[in-house]
Amino acid sequence: MHLAVVGSGYVGLVAGACFAETGNDVVCVDKDAGKIERLQRNEIPIYEPGLEDLVRRNQAEGRLRFSTDLPAAVREAKVIFIAVGTPPNEDGSADLSHVLDVAGEIGRAMDGPRLVVNKSTVPVGTADRVEAAIRSVTSQPVDVASNPEFLKEGAAIEDFMRPDRVIIGVQTDAARAALEALYAPFTRRGGDRFIVMDRRSAELTKYAANAMLATRISFMNQVAALCEALGADVHLVRAGIGSDQRIGRAFLYPGPGYGGSCFPKDVKALVHMAKEADVAADVLEAVEAANARQKQVLLDKTRQRLGADLAGKVVAVWGLAFKAETDDMRESPSIPLVEGLLAGGARVQVHDPRATESARAIFGDRVLYAADPYSAAHGADALVIVTEWLVYRNPDLDRLKLLLRRPLVIDGRNLFDPARMRSLGFEHVGIGRGRG
Ligand code: NAD
Repeated sequence: MHLAVVGSGYVGLVAGACFAETGNDVVCVDKDAGKIERLQRNEIPIYEPGLEDLVRRNQAEGRLRFSTDLPAAVREAKVIFIAVGTPPNEDGSADLSHVLDVAGEIGRAMDGPRLVVNKSTVPVGTADRVEAAIRSVTSQPVDVASNPEFLKEGAAIEDFMRPDRVIIGVQTDAARAALEALYAPFTRRGGDRFIVMDRRSAELTKYAANAMLATRISFMNQVAALCEALGADVHLVRAGIGSDQRIGRAFLYPGPGYGGSCFPKDVKALVHMAKEADVAADVLEAVEAANARQKQVLLDKTRQRLGADLAGKVVAVWGLAFKAETDDMRESPSIPLVEGLLAGGARVQVHDPRATESARAIFGDRVLYAADPYSAAHGADALVIVTEWLVYRNPDLDRLKLLLRRPLVIDGRNLFDPARMRSLGFEHVGIGRGRG
């Protein structure tokens, strides 16, 4: 099938490369000419495991191309995916300007019938708006479908190739058949992985899924705070509740607050949607408020130990990305931490295996970028762990202790066993692991 994917970011690039891998002829379009030139040279602008190989191979074999020429891509393709960003507006609603701009451009370029599939995360009713935007500029027949994306950064290719489910919102059998054929290679593992519904339900499914996951995180962060106040261990409580099949073990890890480009903006957008529809959004508002508080937890724990005046103190930070296996720092809890430490007068020495470039755009030369985790820890009064990178899980703790000026580890991801750390002479402060 001939496909165009408009927007070559985390979602568009992964979707385009995976569709090419299964034999389709794909053009990935972006308005960022620099990004497209890099991609044409097989330089991947983001870090995503396995993506470079996939792009290189499919580009070499001629199934994957990159272009800034949206009209040409629309003329060649029968199915066009929209995968541009939908960042939050000031009021929390999703900014649809990129999606609707692209819809207009597609409409103006259409020289025959097309299926337009929206993959961006968009409020309920956007498929109608996309359809109206296209119809207002062309008399060619257009079918618009919704196909929200559920991939996780850091495991995006695996998620796309072996999805838990593919959600399709359609209003015609033709759209359903085309998308079923496209996704068949990825949904062969059995089970009911291809779920077809109306467009509005598909649009809402994406927000409901992210809001549910964000709720689990805020809930567990609150349970962790209770553990600290009452002298319980969240590690044990998690095992105790996760064994209940109705709850399940996944996504029950407390931490420094959720970040990334999706959960924060999607919870906000759902709150906004609920308010517009005159539906109470109090559960979601509480999830958001709890997360905003949680993003201060690592700074609070550091200040409690080192004092509010951090002048003359050196703080090491391991991990800047909002989670492991990505270079993405959007809404990362590392940002309020580092900014708070700097505001308090501390010298901050950071390390991240992949996010240094993203970090430079935020912190400039206000922090010291260490080449490895141990250099970051050198001479520090505290080590704060923000991201659960594998490389931080089993460090040489004797070496670490010697390098730190004070053996204080504020373990925002509960990577280490508190009792073991104490026996090695560390002051270990976890999240919800005994009195805080
Ligand atoms: P991104 O910012 O990484 O990429 C978006 C791309 O769209 C950019 O390269 C930008 O230059 C391009 N673009 C914007 N306007 C354009 C236009 N008019 N023409 C051509 N290109 C244009 O965004 P992303 O993280 O890939 O997210 C895209 C959408 O998918 C969002 O709605 C997001 O919520 C959703 N989503 C993201 C993830 C994720 O993990 N990142 C997962 C699921 C869903």
